[in-house]
Amino acid sequence: MHQTGILVIGGGIAGTATACYLAQYGHQVTLLEQSELAAEASGLNAGTLWATGWGHTPELSSTLSMGSLEVFKTLQLDLGHDLEFRQGGSLQAIQTEEEYAFAQQAVRELLARGHQVELLDGRDARSIEPALGPRILGCLYYPHGGSANPVKTVRALASLAQKHGATILTHHKVTGIAHLDDGAYQIITPPATFKASALVLAAGPWCRSLGAMLGLSIPVYAVRGQMWATAPVPPSIYHSIGALESHLYWHTHPYSRASGSPATSTGGRPATVKSSSAATGNWTPPKRPTGTASRPTALMRLNSFQSCRTSPSLAPGPVGCPLHAICTPSSARSPTSKISTYSQA
Ligand SMILES: Cc1cc2nc3c(=O)[nH]c(=O)nc-3n(C[C@H](O)[C@H](O)[C@H](O)COP(=O)(O)OP(=O)(O)OC[C@H]3O[C@@H](n4cnc5c(N)ncnc54)[C@H](O)[C@@H]3O)c2cc1C
Repeated sequence: MHQTGILVIGGGIAGTATACYLAQYGHQVTLLEQSELAAEASGLNAGTLWATGWGHTPELSSTLSMGSLEVFKTLQLDLGHDLEFRQGGSLQAIQTEEEYAFAQQAVRELLARGHQVELLDGRDARSIEPALGPRILGCLYYPHGGSANPVKTVRALASLAQKHGATILTHHKVTGIAHLDDGAYQIITPPATFKASALVLAAGPWCRSLGAMLGLSIPVYAVRGQMWATAPVPPSIYHSIGALESHLYWHTHPYSRASGSPATSTGGRPATVKSSSAATGNWTPPKRPTGTASRPTALMRLNSFQSCRTSPSLAPGPVGCPLHAICTPSSARSPTSKISTYSQA
C-alpha cells in the first residue's frame, strides 16, 4: 500500500491546482486521474476568464476571478509556462432590447460598486471585435477579461505540482474508498492501493459517485452540454464572446424550477434550469449514453443560429467555416481549432 499525506482525485483544473498549491505549501500530495490530465471539462472548455476588477469592497467572486487572473499571470509571465494566456478583454453579446435594458442596469450597478465594465453599441463593439455580426445590438465589454488554453493550463499546474514534489498518476481510476478506523482513507485503483490522511474529491461530476463510496450525498450530476466546433481554421475571432442571454435568464429566474423536471427542447433556457434544479437535488437527470455525439435538439439549433448571428463567419457558406460538430464534452476529442459556443447543461 502506498502512503501519502493528501490524496487528490481528479486531474482537471480543480485537482491539479489543489495539488500544486498543497505541494507548494509543503504537503505530501498524490493525484490520481482515471484517464489523462484535462481529459474532461477542464480540457474542452472555452478558456474564458471573466472578471470585472476588484471593486471598492472585494467580495468572494471578485477575489476568485481577480485572484485567478494573478495565477495565470504568474504561471505565464513569471514562471515561463506558455498558456496562451491573453488578458485582451471579453465580450457579452446583446441580441434583444430586453437584454440591452438589462445591460444598462447591470453596468450602473457594477460601476457603482467600483467594477470595470462598459456598454458598447454595435458599432463600437465591432471596432473591438470585427467578427461580430451586424445584427448584434451591442456588447458588454469587460476589460479585465481574457482567455487561456485550458489543456496547457492544467498541464502547467500539474508540472508545477510535480516540481514541488507531488506525485501525479494518470490511468488510475479510483474504484473504492474506505474511511479507516485510524481516521485515514484507503483508496483503491486497479493498479495500486493508497493510504492517505486527507482526501480531496476534485472529480467534477463524478464527485457524486465517489462521495457515495464514503456515505456522502454530493448533489452534483453529469448532464449533457453542447459544444459546436469548426474544422481547424486560421484565427479570426480575437475575444471570448459570451451571450448576455444566460446572464439575464439567471437574473430573472434565480434557482427557478426547484421542483419538477426541466424542459429540454423549447426556446427557454433549460441548460441553466437543469443546473439549478439538479443542485437542489430535486431533479433526477435522464439516463443517456455518455461520450456520444447527439442529434441537434431545437435548443441546440437555436444556439447554433445565435452563434452564427453573433459571428457570421461561423455560418455555412462558401467563405464561412461552418459549425460542423456537436459533441458532448467527454467525446469531443477530435482536432478542432475553435470552440464557438457552448451551453453547459
Ligand atoms: C463546453 C464547456 C465550456 C466551458 N467554458 C468555460 C469557460 O470558458 N470558462 C470557465 O471558467 N469555465 C468553463 N467551463 C467550465 C469548466 O470547464 C469547469 O468548471 C472546470 O473544468 C471543472 O473542472 P474540474 O477539475 O472540477 O472537473 P473536470 O475537468 O471534469 O475534472 C474531473 C476529473 O476527474 C477525473 N475522475 C473522475 N472520476 C474519477 C475516478 N473515479 N478516479 C480518478 N479520476 C476520476 C475525470 O477523468 C476528470 O479528469 C466550461 C465547461 C464546458 C463543459
